[in-house]
Amino acid sequence: MIGIGGRFYQIKTDGKAYLIDDTMKTPFAEVIFFNPDTTEKIKDSIENYDQLKSYLNRLLPNKNVFYAIEIEGTFSYVKTRSVPGQHKPCPPLVKVAKNQIAFEFHQVKGTMVGFWCPAYVKGINVPGYHFHFITTDRKAGGHVPACSMQDISVKIDPISAFYMILPKSRAFDKANLTPPKPNELEKVEK
Ligand SMILES: [Zn+2]
Repeated sequence: MIGIGGRFYQIKTDGKAYLIDDTMKTPFAEVIFFNPDTTEKIKDSIENYDQLKSYLNRLLPNKNVFYAIEIEGTFSYVKTRSVPGQHKPCPPLVKVAKNQIAFEFHQVKGTMVGFWCPAYVKGINVPGYHFHFITTDRKAGGHVPACSMQDISVKIDPISAFYMILPKSRAFDKANLTPPKPNELEKVEK
């Protein structure tokens, strides 16, 4: 899922973005009313995701708060992924992730939106960076494991409040959420 400009899109396993209506539900979402404090232009060419992270690290001075980040520009390469819909009994994410489908974009205009979360959120969210991509024409995108770009604009919104809403359902009440499985999410993210 990607939310941008007040609209939400579902990226299905055909790699296409579908505008979804307000009645649709999701098992997890991380959202914010985005009000960036800073905008940085980066003219250099950024060759890979690790390089992007080092650029962004310099722009995030305080590692004890959250940041919402929007990166707009021309991407020389973006790899995205999507996982197929699941049916009950739903398998764990680490199993689902094995069936995810990858897409590649070359020389495409678009926007990456995401969050940087502090290390202490482990178990609730993903520590570090997590980005989703959508093309400027809003037709395709997905979860981003790899990218390269140049001449981008980076908007950053520091966040010092974190509000979590838990599901109200019997399934959630009965789910065994202890002990946490620390390595599973790392496997999925990679
Ligand atoms: Zn994702």
